[in-house]
Amino acid sequence: MRISDILRVKGNKVVTVTPGSDVTQLLALLAEHRIGAVIVSADGARVDGIVSERDVVRALALRGAAVLTEPVSAIHTVQVRSVSPEAAVEDVERLMTEHRFRHVPVLEDGVLRGVVSIGDVVKNRIDELETERSSLEGYITGERI
Ligand code: AMP
Repeated sequence: MRISDILRVKGNKVVTVTPGSDVTQLLALLAEHRIGAVIVSADGARVDGIVSERDVVRALALRGAAVLTEPVSAIHTVQVRSVSPEAAVEDVERLMTEHRFRHVPVLEDGVLRGVVSIGDVVKNRIDELETERSSLEGYITGERI
């Protein structure tokens, strides 16, 4: 299974925020779209960073409510790990586990094509297991030959 298979089901929509937007605007985006991370992008196509709810929590713990008026660029992660649409889902699972993050942008020729979250990966895994289970049940009960 490839990342492009997941994107075909979930779509290519990517929520982005400009580096100069403030953290309050970022929180509004996270709440509006019910997501945990947003891609930081000046032009909506290239990735300048990624910022997740964890970055906001950490910054709040360190600097208090003043963070809310700081720009997103003050708290975002610049070294972003991304994958191509051809990447195997298993490799992305490994990447998320190894680096302990839950979001990976999908890039093709440097341009954003989607975002895969740990929720998408888990859903994919459950669907695969369900298909496998019903095939095995079919073989055992003789409904499939
Ligand atoms: P998350 O688990 O995705 O909420 O993110 C945890 C931390 O990893 C935060 O500091 C994020 O900014 C950072 N992060 C999230 N996704 C990525 C990624 N694909 N590459 C690098 N850092 C990331």
